Parts: sequence; C-alpha cells; structure tokens
Amino acid sequence: MKLEISKETIPAHLCHYPDHRAFKDGDFWKEIPGWSSVSAEEFGNYMWQLKNSITSLDKMRDVLKHRAKEHLLEDFQKALEIVPMNIRITPYIFSLIDWDNPVEDPLRREFMPIASQLLENHPFILKDSLYEDVDSPVQYLTHRYPDKVLFLTLSVCPHYCSYCTRSRLIGGSTLSREKQVYSPGITKYEEIFEYIRTHDQIEDVVISGGDTSLLKPELIRTIGKTLLDINHIRRIRYATKSLAVFPMKVLSDDEWFKALIEVNEIGRKRGKHVCIHTHFSSPREISLWSRKAADRLFQEGLTVRNQTVFQSGVNNDINVMGLFIKQLSHMNVHPYYVFILDMVPGIEHLRTTLRDAVEMEKAMRGYTAGFNIPTFTCDLPTGGGKRHIASYDYYNEETGVSVWRSPSVKPEKAFFYFDPLHRLDPKIQKRWKSTRERRSMLKEALSHVAPDLKPDPVYGLTN
Ligand SMILES: *Cc1c(COP(=O)(O)O)cnc(C)c1O
Repeated sequence: MKLEISKETIPAHLCHYPDHRAFKDGDFWKEIPGWSSVSAEEFGNYMWQLKNSITSLDKMRDVLKHRAKEHLLEDFQKALEIVPMNIRITPYIFSLIDWDNPVEDPLRREFMPIASQLLENHPFILKDSLYEDVDSPVQYLTHRYPDKVLFLTLSVCPHYCSYCTRSRLIGGSTLSREKQVYSPGITKYEEIFEYIRTHDQIEDVVISGGDTSLLKPELIRTIGKTLLDINHIRRIRYATKSLAVFPMKVLSDDEWFKALIEVNEIGRKRGKHVCIHTHFSSPREISLWSRKAADRLFQEGLTVRNQTVFQSGVNNDINVMGLFIKQLSHMNVHPYYVFILDMVPGIEHLRTTLRDAVEMEKAMRGYTAGFNIPTFTCDLPTGGGKRHIASYDYYNEETGVSVWRSPSVKPEKAFFYFDPLHRLDPKIQKRWKSTRERRSMLKEALSHVAPDLKPDPVYGLTN
C-alpha cells in the first residue's frame, strides 16, 4: 500500500509541506534603494558584504533613502543610548528585513533594537549570566563541564545580535558600555593550548568568540591543527553565525573555506570529528544563499549543527518553528539546540516564559526525524550548564521562579531561572519590586526542592 502524505494528514498548525523546500531566491537586495544597482556577483562577495555592513544610523538612512521611516530611526537612536551591543547588520540580513513593516519584523527585532520595545531589566539580570568568566581557569577559556571547554578566540563578529549572551565582551564599546576589543593572536592562545594539553580529561573544544568567520585562514588552520595534535582531543567545533547572516563568507572566501576543509581532512584521517556550529534563529534568515553555503560544506563532508535562541516575536510561534526545523533539516543543518534566552541586560522584551518553551518542545517532538528535533535547553544562570527545558525540579508559574539542579556540573548548588516580569500577574509584578518579597518567593521555590543545596550568593539568600 502506498502511503500518501497530504496536507490533511499533518496537523493544521504544522502544515508547511512542501513549503520548506522553497528557498527564497531572486535579487531581493535591489529593493533597498541604495543597492538597487548592486549585481548578484557583488552582493555575493564576502568583502562587499563586510564593507557595506550597516553600523550606524547614518548608513541606514543612506541606503534606505525614501524607504526610511523617520520615527523608527529615532526610536532606534534612543535604543542605541541604552543597549549593551553595538549595531552591525550585514547587507544580506538588512535586505531581508521587511522595511514596509519593520516594527514587527522578526529580523529587525533580533538585530536592531528600538527604545519603544525595550523593557526594564529583570532584577536578577547578570552581565555574565552563565558565569563564563567565573568558571575560567585561563583568560578566554571556560572549563565548566568535565570533558569539554569553550575557547573564546576573538571579540568581534561580522553581525551583532541584540540578545548576545557575551554582550559584556563582544563588539566593542557602546554609548553605555566600555569594552576592550581583543584581537586574535597565536601567542595569546599559547596559555590556553597549554591548559588543554595538561588536562587530559578534555576531549572536546568549542572554538568560539566572537565569530570564527573573522579568523584569518592561517589562524583557522593553526588553531585546528594545534588542537588535533593533542592526543586526548577527539572533537572540535568552529562556531560561526556566517552561514545564517553572511553565507557569502562560506561561498566566496575560498582561502578561509579551504583552511576549514584542510582541518576537517586532518581530523578525519585521525578519527577525530571537526564540525561547524552555526546560529540560525528564524526561517526569515534562510534563503537559497544559505542553502548553497550549507551544501558547499556538506559536500566536503563537514557536519553543521545549529543553535537557536528562542525569542518572543521571532520564533515562538509553532508554525514558524515547524517550518524552521524542516528547512534546516532540508539543508542538512542539524537543529541541535534551542536555548531560552540567557538572563543578560537589554533583552527583556525578547524573553519568553519557561512554559512557552516547554510547550514548543511538546509541539515539535514527533514532527520529523528524532535526530532533527532540537533539544530545548536552559543554560542556567550562575554556571549550572545546559539543562533540558523540562528538567527543572520546581516551577512556580505564578511567581515565574524555577529551581534546577545540575548533578554532573555542580552537585552542591541550586540554580534559578526567572520568567520575564511583564508576563506575570500585576500583583506578582508588584511583589518583585520589594527585595524582601523577592527573597521570600525564591525561598518558597527552593523549599520544594532541596533546602540544603546552596544557591549562588548573588541571590542574597545566604545569611
Ligand atoms: C555550551 C558549552 C559547551 C558545549 O556544550 P554542548 O552541550 O556539548 O554543546 C562547552 N562549554 C561551555 C562552557 C559551554 O557553555
């Protein structure tokens, strides 16, 4: 018997079939007045993309011309005085924004904050929410889990996200924040390599930043070879958002691409896995350019995994997430993680409740191949590491407080995550204004779990 899959057999809310096979094509950038005569060849050149990135309000006005909405740009200017991240938007993403309806556009929401949408920070926001600097034995290396480490190779990206978890380090100073830019240099990495060499429980290195698309090909090569030369290293991953925001890098920077392929070949011969970790968050970021870039990597035998951030107004809709997962799968990009937002400054308007993420996980599971269903994850504030979204020990949806344990990372510690206050009942929101009430809500939650476990001192519960 032949089984027909038709629209009728798929739940209505997941009915994209076969839309996920259609990839946005055509010269969409020509709708940006300043780029109306830019050829596909120019637009497809990574140098052109870098040179024409939108880094200021003036540049925005310059290219949008009559399509610029003055009230939106003023709103954006006000946000720039507050937010911790600089603005840098690749022409690729800039031309995918719907400039007729920019206020609710998911790409505009992710990469171009406006003051009218910003909300007051949650009282337990931390600049380094994940305690990457606390769990750091050597500067720019985080060693939290027994057998894997996070290596921050540089502090810049070709494109900045408003919700960056490393806004304390990445992207240079803003109007409200002083930051040092650290540039890569092989001598600076020596201490990190030495730490990895002398800790033989480490088998897995996340090479991140910043974005490794801005590492010179020699550095891609040297970092890769140095790590693969260490006997106990079995797996390395280069983190780059380029595939999502700047696929031209993969398609046209042949030297950089060749360096990656070379490292992959060396790894493969030694039975070691070299991967790319990328960061798409919305089907709106995906086009035929992304698909071609993913194909180029796949054809060379490189595994690409994707890490998404779950954001209100971007991908917290079942239809959007369903289409997104199917499109990534179609491009052989493995939907690895969906993270709820880390509790860092300037992102309250993008955060969701924990419940939202649990419900999204339920809706997605069973929808396609099990290995293509991402793990919905909370990376716990104060360094508990990544936990499955539904593995909390207690969750009070009224106060928005959840309590977590992390037995394999920090068994002696209790961890909290907090829903955004604007999603709570006004009466509870008022309780959150008082330090004493806050403490009592945290104590209540903790009492359901393990009163002997110690939460981080930052919560003020230790006497
Ligand atoms: C995310 C992360 C890793 C890698 O974790 P996986 O779950 O294996 O992807 C390693 N170290 C740190 C500090 C991390 O935050």
